[in-house]
Amino acid sequence: MKHKGILIVVSGFAGTGKGTLMKMLLDKYENYALSVSMTTRAPRPGEIDGVSYFFVNKETFEERIAQNGLIEHACYCDNYYGTPRDYVEKQLEAGKDVILEIEIQGAMKVKEQFPQALLLFVMPPSVQELEQRLVGRGTETPEVIHKRMCRAAAESEGIEQYDYIVINDKLEDCVVEMHSIIQAAHYTPLRNEEFIKHIRRDLEGLAKGEK
Ligand code: 5GP
Repeated sequence: MKHKGILIVVSGFAGTGKGTLMKMLLDKYENYALSVSMTTRAPRPGEIDGVSYFFVNKETFEERIAQNGLIEHACYCDNYYGTPRDYVEKQLEAGKDVILEIEIQGAMKVKEQFPQALLLFVMPPSVQELEQRLVGRGTETPEVIHKRMCRAAAESEGIEQYDYIVINDKLEDCVVEMHSIIQAAHYTPLRNEEFIKHIRRDLEGLAKGEK
């Protein structure tokens, strides 16, 4: 029986290493597809349009919302971010597990629309570590870092809405843990409703002496 892929939402405070984790997960294992978001934020040095994000202006973003072209969108630290619908639907249909690396408001909207989505929250081993990583990355001004730390404090209130937390202490271990959680999620009854119904129907038929 061919399975549809599952939708995996990955959130975490800025600086927890989500981007690196996702890259390692995709390099190490097959069957994952990473959705590329659309944003109105300016590209950082080294970011590539169409790979890191689809970088667009506010008008283009709003047009996309009006066309129902985004599964979800949210405003984060003064910029819009959203998940293009086409790519996600196609990849799920093709049986891929699709990863959305998005913030918490978007995650909650996905959960409403796709109750079978798996929600993971990446945690730093400590707040000191988080701050060091964010400063060390050197891609944001102190003002932006402060904004993102405030945002992290607010986001921490929503962690209980997620299915699992993963702690990014050692990257290699974290990637393996994440993959194991996703693998296990494939076998929950909620994500196998069609298969269960199918077996149940056949059993009922058998009980009635139809076969
Ligand atoms: P950054 O500017 O650091 O690339 O991303 C800022 C935040 O926006 C991160 O928490 C990231 O996960 C989130 N984000 C990226 N793409 C999307 C998206 O399509 N939708 C939502 N809701 N958040 C996103």
